[in-house]
This record gives sequence, structure tokens and C-alpha cells, in this order.
Amino acid sequence: MVKLLLTGVFKPFGVSDEYGEALCTMELLNNQVTREQGIHSPRSNNLSFGLYLMAENLDIPSTVLDFPAWKDFTKEINKGNYTHVGISFIVPNVLKAKRMAEYIRRESPSTKIIVGGHGAAIPNLREILDYDEVCRGEGVAWLRRYFGEDVKKPIKHPVVHSAVRKFVYGAPILEMAGIILPGVGCQNSCSFCATSHKFEKQYTSFLKTGREMLDACNKTAEKLRVKDFGVMDENFLKSPVRARQFVDEMEKELKAYTFSIFSSADAVTKMGVDFLVRMGVNFIWIGVESKWNVFEKTHGVDLFKLIKDLQDHGVTVLASTILFMDHHDKFTIEEDIDWAISLKSDLLQLMQFGPIPGTQLYKDYEAEGKLFMDIPWPSQHGQNEIWFHHPHFTLPETSHYLKNAFIRKYQTDGPGVLNMAHTAIKGYLKLMEDIKDREEKGLVWCPKTLSYIPHPNPKPDEFMKLRLESWRENALRFRPILSTAFKYAPNEKAAEKCRIIMNLYDKVFGKLTIKEMALEVVVKTFAILENQKYKRNGSVMRQPKTKRAEFPDRRNGKLNC
Ligand code: SF4
Repeated sequence: MVKLLLTGVFKPFGVSDEYGEALCTMELLNNQVTREQGIHSPRSNNLSFGLYLMAENLDIPSTVLDFPAWKDFTKEINKGNYTHVGISFIVPNVLKAKRMAEYIRRESPSTKIIVGGHGAAIPNLREILDYDEVCRGEGVAWLRRYFGEDVKKPIKHPVVHSAVRKFVYGAPILEMAGIILPGVGCQNSCSFCATSHKFEKQYTSFLKTGREMLDACNKTAEKLRVKDFGVMDENFLKSPVRARQFVDEMEKELKAYTFSIFSSADAVTKMGVDFLVRMGVNFIWIGVESKWNVFEKTHGVDLFKLIKDLQDHGVTVLASTILFMDHHDKFTIEEDIDWAISLKSDLLQLMQFGPIPGTQLYKDYEAEGKLFMDIPWPSQHGQNEIWFHHPHFTLPETSHYLKNAFIRKYQTDGPGVLNMAHTAIKGYLKLMEDIKDREEKGLVWCPKTLSYIPHPNPKPDEFMKLRLESWRENALRFRPILSTAFKYAPNEKAAEKCRIIMNLYDKVFGKLTIKEMALEVVVKTFAILENQKYKRNGSVMRQPKTKRAEFPDRRNGKLNC
């Protein structure tokens, strides 16, 4: 019988060993956003969502193994009787995939090995590891075709948490979020973008309508008891019809869920901040890339205004920027770093321009002879040294520039979590005022113009009252960490910012409740321990727990993950 194992690569992650580097962790924020923020950096691991989506949509029995230890992986191979094993990996993890493939060949020679993920685009991959097939493009369709199943069958959305093993100041965060996977790919085709190129610059939707979006949210909300969702779609607002339908559906059911999304600046501008708030977006990732507007998605957008407007309405902004592009020299790179910091986003991703296999950039740089072919794949992750010739920077310089840029952002704007708290409380106040103001002026939401317009018989906006409650809950989430943020503030400016934010919380919500005081003590206690770890080791690396899930789920309604 055909039986499939879909696995990620083995841990430990974020350590320097023969398979990888310390600066390549299995975390998003701590790796490339709140890096250099020490104890203030929130920690979490995101599950390998694609594996669950693929397993959920195959008829053949499948198992997903996420973050396995080496012993978990070998046990699975030894006992699982798998006819096929799919290994998903990114470029810097290729040597881990190689070790896994070697083990499979040795212990289970008849098992077919399928490789997938961005790492599968490495040229001459077969010279590194032995495999049978490469899963290209959108994985569900590819695997269905490969196993002779109906490619056109509707997509079943999996029920999966967004992030796991979440900590702030060393204290575990118990509140969880679900993940929604509306689709893959992006038509914007930025030359460096691995995702856009992996899916051939096309967007494939899994959830085609707003109704399907809400059904997926409702299912996940019910099974995981969550109200907050990560939306894993490279450019969610680029599909405006579905986004509009989605808000309409939520309003009909009075479901004021909240969301973290990725969207390009042009798409956000088209939909408008009022729409985002109505939808419940309290966190957005926007690629701002460079002051020189080298990508179409930021053309004509006043990023300063957009970011401030979003923050004033309670939307945390993570701006993403790229260093060591073609136009950077020692002067312009400083200008770009200053510019990125001056945008005053709550969080700032700093990434090195990286020719990743499969992208147009990789092809261009290869043709121009710019790639350093002797730099090992595990070093090509964008957080240490670049791996191509840049006329203005030596490789060690690139590592220093990047690290210093993170430190500058941290020293200038303080801890990211503090900025998020500020945005959340400001947004709550603004929404309260806006709702009151609209009631007084008789304004109602117009789904056609995506704005509030006068109405002869305005009714109370019950949906936005629920939204206000969700904004309130979001703001209150940060309250127990504020005194700890103050205690470990990196400088006087950050300490002063913290004082102002704490006063604002007191003004809006009154004195701390007994529960909040207790939580504050818990966070402070964990922070003491966490701080000792930082002092001892210079960093704290937590390994995610192994997740194993069988599809179809035969565990009597119990959750896979
Ligand atoms: S807009 Fe973002 S997701 Fe789309 S191609 Fe550009 S970098 Fe990639």
C-alpha cells in the first residue's frame, strides 16, 4: 500500500554544526526582525504549514513530521513502512536533507524520495543528494498528479496552529492563533522573491471566496479555540474581491476575528486603512525594500504616511527592507538604513539581498558571473555574509553592516514589543473615537467605496463594536510585559517611551487588575531567568518540539496539531 511521510529537516536549529549555522534559526522574528534585541525579542516557531495542507488533501495515508529530532526521523523511517518520503527544506538546510536522504537509501532502499521546498531549486541538486522526484510548483496538485489522484478535487483546509512554543521575556505565551492558507505565489514577480518564482509568478488560490475563507476560520476557531489568525498568503490584499467578500461574510455572522497578514504597499493603499481595521488586521508585513523605490509595489506610495496611518489605527507594521542591492555603496546603504529606521515601523526586517536559486536574480547574477560558487549552501541564508560579488563591500563587511543596522533600529526605537503595545493602545483609543464620531455624524460603512458615508437612517455598527472589543483584547495582551520592558530598557529613550505607554494604559484601563498584577509578576520572574541565560550564553536558543500528525486523522476526533 502506498504510504507517504512528509517531513521537515531535523533539529537542532540555529546552532553551528556540520549542517548549519547559528544565524539561521527556525524562527521568524528573532532571526531577522527582532535580532539583537536580546531578552526583548519574542520567540516562536511556525509550523511547516505546507506539509499539513498537502497531507490533508491526499487520499493516500500520510504522516507529517515537523521539527523532528534525528531519532524521531530515523524511528519513523524504521517503523513506518513508507513507500514515499517527501523532504521539504530551504536552501541553507540542504545538508540536513542530504543526511536524511542517505539514511532512507540505506535503511529503506525501496522508498521513493521526493524533495520539495525552496531548497529543491538548487542547481545540480543531484550532485548533493540522491532523490527520485522533485515536487515543483504548487505541492497539492503536484502530489495528487504524482499519486494518480483527482487534481481538481476541492481543497480541504487543514486545522493548524500558526506559531508554537511562544515566549516573551522567557515567559510562555499560552494564547494561540490558527493559520489560514488562502493561496500561494505572487504575481508581482520581484526579481529576488523565491516564493513568486517557485510558483512561476502566478497566484494559486486554495480559498477562492470570502465564504471559503470564513469557513476555514470557523473550523479552525472551533477546533483550536482561537480567535486570532496568521494569514499565510504572500499578498492577501492583492485579491481584493475575496478580501471584500470575506469582510461581508464576517459581518453577516458577527465574527470579529483578528489577523496578521502580508501585503504589498500598493495593495494596502488600494484597500485603505478603514478596510483593514474592519477586517481585523492588527499586524501587517509590508515589503518597503529601499528608499530608491526600485520595486513597482511601492511606486507612488507615501510609505511614511501609510505606516503612520496604520499604526494610528492599531495595526502593527513590520516593514521589510533589503541591504546590499545593486545601487548600494557605502554611502547609499547608510542612507537606506537611516530611511528604513525613519519610517518608524514597529518592527523592521533587515535582510541581505540574496540570489536564491530559482529566482530571476539568481539567473542574472549567475549569467554575470557574480555568484561565489565556493560559499557553502548552509551559509546562504541572508543573516551573515552575502554570497555574491558586490563592488562596494567585502563579505565580512556585509555581516557587520547588517548587525549594526539591527542595533541601530533597536537603539533608536526601542524593543519591538514595546512599539507593538503602543500601536495597540493607540489603535484602541482611535477606534473608540471613530465609532463615536461616525454615530454622531450618521455615517455607515459602504462596502462599495470601502469608506464610511452618510446614511439617512443609520443603524448602530454592531460589527465594529465587536471589532472594538477585539482591539481592546489585543491592547491588553501587552499590559503584563510593560514593567519588564521598562526594567530591561536598552536606553533612557526606550525607558521614557515605556513610561509614557504605561501611563497611557493606566489612563485608558485604570489600575492593573489582580490578574494583570499576577501576570506581571510571572513575566518578571521568567525574565530574571531569561536574562541570566543571555548573560551566560550571549543568546538563548529554544528547539521546537517534534510534531507528528497522521492523515486522515484516525484518532477519534482528537486534533492532529
Ligand atoms: S510583492 Fe512580495 S511576495 Fe510579491 S513578488 Fe514581491 S517580494 Fe514577492
